[in-house]
Amino acid sequence: MTTYDSMDSRNLILLTNCEIYTKNPTIAGCNNILIAGNKISDIFYAPPGKHTVPERCIEIDCFRNLVIPGINDAHIHLLSSAAVMNQHSMHSIHPKDYDMIAKTLAFIKTKHNQSEWIGAYGLDDRFFLDQNFDSQWLDKFAVNEPVFISNETGHAIILNSKAMQMLHISQTDDSLLHGVMDVAGNGELTGKFFDLNSAIFHKINAFTNQFNADNNLPKLFTKLHQKGITSVQDAGHNNKIDKLQRLSLITDVNAIRIGLMIGCNIQNINDLASIHQEIDTNMVKFIGLKIMLSEATGDYLPAKSELEYLVKLSNSKNFRVAVHAVEEQAIDMTLDAFSSAHKFYPDIINRIEHCSEYTDSVIEKAKTIPFYSVTQPGFILHRGDYYIEAHPKDKHNDLYPLRTMQETSHVLAFSSDSPVIPPNPWDGFISAQSRNTLRGNQLGTSNERLTFNEIVDCYTTNGAIVEGSQDIKGTLAVGLLADLAILDPSCIGRSNPTLLTILNGNIVWDSEALVLTLH
Ligand SMILES: [Zn+2]
Repeated sequence: MTTYDSMDSRNLILLTNCEIYTKNPTIAGCNNILIAGNKISDIFYAPPGKHTVPERCIEIDCFRNLVIPGINDAHIHLLSSAAVMNQHSMHSIHPKDYDMIAKTLAFIKTKHNQSEWIGAYGLDDRFFLDQNFDSQWLDKFAVNEPVFISNETGHAIILNSKAMQMLHISQTDDSLLHGVMDVAGNGELTGKFFDLNSAIFHKINAFTNQFNADNNLPKLFTKLHQKGITSVQDAGHNNKIDKLQRLSLITDVNAIRIGLMIGCNIQNINDLASIHQEIDTNMVKFIGLKIMLSEATGDYLPAKSELEYLVKLSNSKNFRVAVHAVEEQAIDMTLDAFSSAHKFYPDIINRIEHCSEYTDSVIEKAKTIPFYSVTQPGFILHRGDYYIEAHPKDKHNDLYPLRTMQETSHVLAFSSDSPVIPPNPWDGFISAQSRNTLRGNQLGTSNERLTFNEIVDCYTTNGAIVEGSQDIKGTLAVGLLADLAILDPSCIGRSNPTLLTILNGNIVWDSEALVLTLH
């Protein structure tokens, strides 16, 4: 029999009649969870209808639905995800389908005020490789209004002539030196820009408030709560230290828990080391340093020796490193860097983001080095058809082999990489369970599927481990933070299964399918 302190003035919520997701045998048979303030204060069994409800407590009858720890999207780009909420998605347009771009632009124009910009995102990369796709082509469909369209990964963007003119973009623009301005045979700009998206958005945001990310953050947080998400990890490789402060000002107590990575360079490592004690705020926490390892003109940057140096320096200050590594060669280089740092700093486990081309040779090396793998099962669903088209069949098993990744990395955690794909863990659930693509193809073998429980772990407990927060969240246990979601598992694969979400002890999303009683 559980007794309550009736003088308890904290928020009290009692979940009754629930199935509890746990690996702990002492909790396994329980059906009640008591939340006091922002923590789980009790988990216990009471025969149905026989539980005592403390005074001034909200009782939630869960109708035997499943309670899981709040979902942690372990790799997301928060501000870009907020910025695209006022843009039109072009994800579903097939490569070469120029008619559909024209139709979409025409459709947007009908819902549009004349002075407004037309902004779109998520267009297939292959359009950007086509010489005929340029600003003049866009002008045919929008000549009086400025237009931008960015690609799936947010690394390329195209502007129409009006937009270039309004932003005063020219080939001698100093602010656009750190990327590629595409130039046609006649020496004119084509309107396509590579690795200049953030510089161009900086200009657009100076011009109009239409795509201001900060304004959209509350809307984005609600969208995440609706999916059962209570924590995200922002993986921006350009993140500066002041973003900790900026996000904590925006994030009110009920919004979302943010694990923030900061761009890995010598200056940031040293600055962080000197202020480390003071940088965690209520909802925003520094979780490690991010390195973007990508191929430019045939060579990987940073180069192997610099990568090893940065990992070692970070680890020497007790910081975890997260390396963006997609291709086999990048993963191989990263594992070597982790291996050499591990000899000096064996207590720190670093992470690989994406880890997409997980080939046999990489797997053999991976078995010998402890690392966390943070990947995106939703890419199988959203981009799987493209992978199947672009890669020979014998390579399909190398792409996101989730079971092998789980078996050979220390911990496997899941994420969306939003806005590359929508921040929807239930898409990821479908592909991790089935390996199915949007068009119903299967990517790779069925052996690489994961079970329901394994996927829940990858989205909850493991997400907390890879950010180093497993002592405060990520499982349902007395004393841990009251971040949780109530699911109707029978909806998974058909619709959003989230019935109610609690974050920091507060109800942040309620589908109204459950019965709430105030005592
Ligand atoms: Zn990313």
